[in-house]
Amino acid sequence: LASADAAAGRTVVDVRGVRIGGPELALVGGPCGVESREQLFTVARYVAEAGVKLLRAGAFKPRTSPYAFQGLGLEGLRLLEEARAEFDLGIVTEATEVETFDDVERSADMVQIGARNMQNFALLRRAGRCEKPVLLKRGPSATLEEWLYAAEYVLGEGNRNLVLCERGIRTWSDHARNTLDVSVVPAAKVLTHLPVMVDPSHATGRRDLVIPCGLAGVAAGADGLLVETHCNPEKALSDGPQALLPSDFIRLVERAQAVHRAL
Ligand code: PEP
Ligand code: MN
Repeated sequence: LASADAAAGRTVVDVRGVRIGGPELALVGGPCGVESREQLFTVARYVAEAGVKLLRAGAFKPRTSPYAFQGLGLEGLRLLEEARAEFDLGIVTEATEVETFDDVERSADMVQIGARNMQNFALLRRAGRCEKPVLLKRGPSATLEEWLYAAEYVLGEGNRNLVLCERGIRTWSDHARNTLDVSVVPAAKVLTHLPVMVDPSHATGRRDLVIPCGLAGVAAGADGLLVETHCNPEKALSDGPQALLPSDFIRLVERAQAVHRAL
């Protein structure tokens, strides 16, 4: 179902008017997690002012440590709905389990399946029955083939509004959190008709590498970028070290669009 078919053409996924896989570069920005109304609204305001139409932030956070901030849950979803209304932004947020999927589906404009859940087959099947588009992250150790079989689980249940997202894989390289697999972007686009995005934030874990790696993703043909940014990264409850400062976020948006236009 994911296989490229020249006759059928490429899939374009519409998320609240943003056409991922269309001629324009699709940009999604926001903090790792919803922390408070003030934090979310501060970030949403400058994301919207930068011309970005989709806001990301997790209400349910899949954390490596059970002692780390787990997200605000349902309260986080309410705040995301408020931010959508206030700033006219589409909401991209993660579903981490089948039990709370209905809530996430109701509040989101696009449901993210996180890297750690790429082979959570019950969750993938549920995402396949979801009314909203789905963003499927690549697992940290998944091959392209495994990632595409995960996509088949979603597509097979009937949801054809699916976007792939490369977010770095685990390699021997230890200067960054993960290794951005730039070449998987064109490789995935050869094999499938699905749009492919790049998340340079989780791919690097380092603020200073996010802009160059995001631009590399765009140059490699990514249909969009998913980027973490925070109004006060020092105080972020998760992923602060990789969060772009507001001014850097705006810079990345401008430069990514310039690279995309130059292709
Ligand atoms: C996230 O987007 O905040 C996230 C947890 O991403 P990943 O699943 O890629 O680690
Ligand atoms: Mn994060």
